[in-house]
Amino acid sequence: MAPRFLADGMLGKLATWLRSLGCDVEYFGDLPDGELVERALRAGRIVLTRDTLLVRRRKARDNHFFVTGDAWRDQLRQVVAAFGIDPAAHLFTRCVRCNEPLVPIEKSRVAGRVPPYVFETQETFNACPSCGRLYWKATHRGAMERQLREILSGP
Ligand SMILES: [Zn+2]
Repeated sequence: MAPRFLADGMLGKLATWLRSLGCDVEYFGDLPDGELVERALRAGRIVLTRDTLLVRRRKARDNHFFVTGDAWRDQLRQVVAAFGIDPAAHLFTRCVRCNEPLVPIEKSRVAGRVPPYVFETQETFNACPSCGRLYWKATHRGAMERQLREILSGP
């Protein structure tokens, strides 16, 4: 089963990028440490953290992964390697904002909600069931994929 995570408040950028790989990552910007480790344990999520005090908490001691890099690129590479995440397998299947798995949406239902050029040139759309954000295979995805390949191919 794919690992599920809860990222601490310092790892927002890492959380977003892991979500774009399709990883299930909860993230709260301002959750107190105690609640964070409690919530992770209850939900079967591994705490992703860079906080040396947080990892000493009893409930986090055996339920965390210590992220070492300062830069999110290094952090992403570290987590992907440590958990054997296949970066291509579930790319862009989850809302980067809400962490919700995306669901396909019919093209007719996105009319007027995406730029006309996108509507004319794209056939497949996905939507986030939580925030309604629409996703499609556009050029910025190509750029993101390139960036990801660069990051994950090593320093
Ligand atoms: Zn969303």
